[in-house]
Amino acid sequence: MAKIIDGKQISMELKDELKERVAEYRAQGIEITLAVIQVGNDKASSVYVGNKKKACEYIGIHSLSYELEEDTTEEELLELIQKLNGDDRVNGILVQLPLPEHIDEDKVIETIDAKKDVDGFHPMSVGALSIGKKGFISCTPYGIIELLQRSGTEIDGKECVVIGRSNIVGKPMSMLLLRENATVTVAHSHTKNLKEVAKRADILIVAIGRPQFIDHEYVKEGAVVIDVGIHRDDNNKLCGDVNYEDVFPHVSAITPVPGGVGPMTIAMLMKNCVNAVEIQK
Ligand code: NAD
Repeated sequence: MAKIIDGKQISMELKDELKERVAEYRAQGIEITLAVIQVGNDKASSVYVGNKKKACEYIGIHSLSYELEEDTTEEELLELIQKLNGDDRVNGILVQLPLPEHIDEDKVIETIDAKKDVDGFHPMSVGALSIGKKGFISCTPYGIIELLQRSGTEIDGKECVVIGRSNIVGKPMSMLLLRENATVTVAHSHTKNLKEVAKRADILIVAIGRPQFIDHEYVKEGAVVIDVGIHRDDNNKLCGDVNYEDVFPHVSAITPVPGGVGPMTIAMLMKNCVNAVEIQK
């Protein structure tokens, strides 16, 4: 019987550990502060921002909230980021994406001080990860490593296939798996014979953004499957990139959607905020 990797429970354990670390810092007179910036009032973004603030509150991180109008100019946003870069009380700066079309996201990400880049999207953070230096790590793939480790999945020496090569999931995922001594293959939309490639995996990580695309024909018997995708199906129910029911009898462990990778992302943002204290020393 396959094991269900419970992201909800693991993220709670992690948040409780972080709460203790925050309390220890506070006892030393160190307060951790995250600045959260949202431009416009996209509904999904408001929900994400709300959840991030709630997590801060739970852990004991002070959050500063900047809710800017949709027509805020790029210059105004960059000015605010620069102000926060220079504010010693602020440990982390998070700009909720996506941004309105008139604002260049890359420019915004690159303006955030790399020492405060708790999303791990800055080119300096990405570079540090790729050469094994200390830095912030993109929260979703960072959370997947935590899920694998805490569910007792050995990564060292394993064949890992990551399907998807985005800057925020697939690429950093492959670097993190390499760091854990896995043999890593990255597959994407131009990969030939995807089923055969995916079937090599002891650990298959799926981040393609296509509802229930991966069925048992892509999965080796006994593999561990991590589903990053998140969608609504025809009945408005949440589902992933993996056809869970079809794949389940063939795997040794799998993450559900919801309740798998999703809850880990915010927990890892919190971990990055706590790590910021060390990174900024
Ligand atoms: P993306 O669209 O940026 O990248 C998708 C990748 O999949 C691309 O590299 C593309 O080459 C590859 N791909 C697309 N179709 C393919 C196919 N048929 N065969 C092989 N490869 C294919 O997406 P992303 O930002 O990496 O996100 C992927 C999914 O994960 C989405 O469903 C997204 O909503 C979800 N997501 C979830 C979380 C979370 O916290 N749970 C975080 C980020 C993303």
